Amino acid sequence: MKILLASNNAHKAKELKALLFSFKVLTFCEVLSPFEIDENGTSFKENALIKSRAVFGALDERQKNEFIVISDDSGISVEALNGKPGIFSARFSPEKTDKANRAKLISELKALNLSESAAFYTACIGISSNLGDFSTHGFMHGKVITEERGQNGFGYDSLFIPNGFSRTLGELDDTTKAQISHRFKALSLAKMILRLFERQK
Ligand code: IMP
Repeated sequence: MKILLASNNAHKAKELKALLFSFKVLTFCEVLSPFEIDENGTSFKENALIKSRAVFGALDERQKNEFIVISDDSGISVEALNGKPGIFSARFSPEKTDKANRAKLISELKALNLSESAAFYTACIGISSNLGDFSTHGFMHGKVITEERGQNGFGYDSLFIPNGFSRTLGELDDTTKAQISHRFKALSLAKMILRLFERQK
C-alpha cells in the first residue's frame, strides 16, 4: 500500500513522512502535475477532505488502486483572539508567510496588552481511497508568547510553548515535537485506519 500526500507544504510533508516511516510515501507532485486546491471549507475537517478528495479524484483508475491519499489541514487557535487564526492560520497576514503571520499574531496580542495566551494546535488528517473517505483529529494544548524563541519547526512554532514544557517548539528538537504534536496524534489514529485497509486488500 502506497501513500500519496495531498500537500505541497515541505515542512508538513517532512513531518508526515517521518511519522509514516513504515509506509512508502510520495507527495502528489511526484505523481501528478501540480494544481491549486481551493480550501474553501469552514472547518479543518472540510478542508482536509477537500484536499484528499481533490488529489484522489485526479488519479487514474490504476493509481486509485495503488494509492491511499492523505491530507493534513492544521492551524493554531488562540484563546485571547477568540480562536483566531484557526483554519486561516496559513493566510492570517496579507503576505501569507510564516514570518508575517507570526508578526500579526504578536501584534494582535500586544494590542490587547497581553504577553501570552492559552492556545492549541489542531490537525485534521483526511484519507481518501477507493474504500471511502475518513478523517481523524489531533490537538496540542499550550500557550503562545509575544517573543520569538528558537529556529526549529515552522509556522507558529517559535511562539508556542506546549503544556508541560518551558521551551517553545522552536527550541525543542524534532523528536520531542514528533512525540507530542497534534499531527502525531491525528496520524496515530489515521494509521489505525490504514492498517484496516491493509487487511481488506
Ligand atoms: P494549511 O496548509 O492550510 O493546513 O495551513 C497550516 C498552517 O497552520 C501552517 O501554515 C502554519 O501556519 C500552521 N501550522 C499547522 N501545523 C503547524 C505546526 O506543526 N507548527 C507550526 N505551525 C503550524
